[in-house]
Amino acid sequence: MPDRECLPVGRAYPVIVVLLSPPGSGKGTQCQRLVELLAVPHLSTGAMLRESVRAGSALGQLAAQYIEQGKLVPDHVMVTLVKDRLEAADCDGGCLLDGFPRTVHQAVALDEQLQTSGRSVDLVLELQVPLEELIRRLVERARQEGRQDDSAETVIRRMEVYEAETKPVLEYYRRRGNLASVDGVGTLDAVFSRIREQVSRYARSSADD
Ligand code: ATP
Ligand code: MG
Repeated sequence: MPDRECLPVGRAYPVIVVLLSPPGSGKGTQCQRLVELLAVPHLSTGAMLRESVRAGSALGQLAAQYIEQGKLVPDHVMVTLVKDRLEAADCDGGCLLDGFPRTVHQAVALDEQLQTSGRSVDLVLELQVPLEELIRRLVERARQEGRQDDSAETVIRRMEVYEAETKPVLEYYRRRGNLASVDGVGTLDAVFSRIREQVSRYARSSADD
């Protein structure tokens, strides 16, 4: 059963949560649990893009070139993709954004888009995992899932892109006061209970507002 008890009582939804963390930090897995907790749709841009690639659409063909090289798909493509998804009725009650925004430009565009419907990003969660651990996990995943973009070369490229393009997004939200960092090392349950704790803390603080 989805339970929203941890969320602010008496506060008008939607609740928009962003999970922002490096490749291999366990975002996908934690998001699956987090959407249950929040009872909101899961918007994973990585999954959306991989779906377009499989379908062979124009977007998919364009995106594939970037994904295979471990590069980011251009901002304007991503912003349009997410904008359309955010306008769908199922996002009226909030959503969990996974893998977006990944650049400051995307973060600004997201703010502008949400503003048009009186919404804003409520909480940004960061999973912190040391680099050696990330590399170990990605190499393991490459073996198990055979994801095209998990080759050693591409993994390194994605890490560099994360440092250069996505770290500044954390700073962007930290300055705004809605960043919560969580230790991403440990069992899936241990990490999730830390995430749950941050969500509850957020809920309590916004209930006081
Ligand atoms: P995880 O390890 O949690 O799966 P990831 O960073 O490896 O995270 P995804 O989020 O699944 O992977 O994204 C896969 C690829 O899709 C990225 O490397 C990038 O090329 C592209 N992509 C996904 N989201 C965005 C975005 N917001 N902007 C630009 N490119 C994106
Ligand atoms: Mg992912």
